[in-house]
Amino acid sequence: MADKKYHVIRDSGIHGRGLFASKFIPKDTWIVEYLGEKVNKEESERRSDLLLEKSKNNGGARVYTFILSDDLDIDGDFEYNDARLVNHSCDPNVEAQVWDEKEIWFIALHDIQPGEELLYNYGFDLESWQEHPCGCGSVRCPGYIVDEDLWPKLRKKISARMAWKTRRRKSSTPAVRPKTEAVCEKAA
Ligand SMILES: [Zn+2]
Repeated sequence: MADKKYHVIRDSGIHGRGLFASKFIPKDTWIVEYLGEKVNKEESERRSDLLLEKSKNNGGARVYTFILSDDLDIDGDFEYNDARLVNHSCDPNVEAQVWDEKEIWFIALHDIQPGEELLYNYGFDLESWQEHPCGCGSVRCPGYIVDEDLWPKLRKKISARMAWKTRRRKSSTPAVRPKTEAVCEKAA
C-alpha cells in the first residue's frame, strides 16, 4: 500500500480521481512512491501500446509505465499504486524522479498548499500528438499533452495544421459559378 503521508485521493476537476495535498508540502519533498511491477522493456512496450490504443482521442490518456533503468520499467497500473492517479498538467507541481534505479517518487517542484491537486507533465513525445488533446486549463497549456521541451516544435505543427485547414476552406468556395452563368447567357 502506498504511504499516505502527504496525500488524499479525491475526484478531480481535470480527470477522474486525482491526488491532493493533505497538508503543506515544502519544495523538494519526496511525496509518494510510484509503486508497481518491474517489467523488461519488451513487455513494457507491449502494455503501453495497449493502453494508448485504448485511450485514443479521449483526452484522458494516462501513462502507467515509467523508466526505471536501461533494462527495467515500472508498470504502475495497479489499485495499490495511488500515484497512478496523479493527473497531467502543463503547469505541474510535481515531477517523477528515479532513486538509484530502484524506486520512482513524485517530488514537489515548489511549495504546495493543502488541498492543491498534485499534477505532473506526462511528457509525451510528438509522434502522435493529435491523439492527446489536453484539458488541464493552465494558462500555459499548448492544447496537447507533450513534453515541455517539445512545445516550440508542437506550436509549429499546430499552426501548420491550421494554415492547411484555412487553405482548404478557401478553395472549396464555388469559384466556377460565374463561368457557368456566362455559358448560360451565350446559350440564351
Ligand atoms: Zn495542458
